[in-house]
Amino acid sequence: MSDCLFCRIIRRDIPASIVYEDDRLLAFNDINPQAPTHVLIIPKQHIESLNALAPGEDAIVGEMVRRAAAIANTRGIAESGYRTVFNTNRDAGQTVFHVHLHLLGGRSLTWPPG
Ligand code: AMP
Ligand code: ZN
Repeated sequence: MSDCLFCRIIRRDIPASIVYEDDRLLAFNDINPQAPTHVLIIPKQHIESLNALAPGEDAIVGEMVRRAAAIANTRGIAESGYRTVFNTNRDAGQTVFHVHLHLLGGRSLTWPPG
């Protein structure tokens, strides 16, 4: 059992503002939101980053992406638009090494990102 931050949120050792949960996924509001909607979608299985993904984990990644789209729809930002981001390792600024999909929206987002 991993003691990483997001595994602890899954186990309810640490509180979070949970917006969705099923057997395989958890989604919660980012504690330091960068947009009006900033939700993190994570697998309940501990996977460090995209670099550690195995072929057998393709399905969970698909579920994460579909869940992000569903939450965007629920938040009313599906039509206006949103961004989905996986940060991987140092140059992308990954700080939590449990793979997570950022869902950002509710304002105009600039491109390219910083
Ligand atoms: P990343 O930089 O891609 O690894 O993203 C990690 C994200 O986790 C950041 O956006 C943080 O604000 C967020 N975060 C860190 N601790 C918590 C927490 N306890 N609850 C919710 N979000 C968190
Ligand atoms: Zn973890």
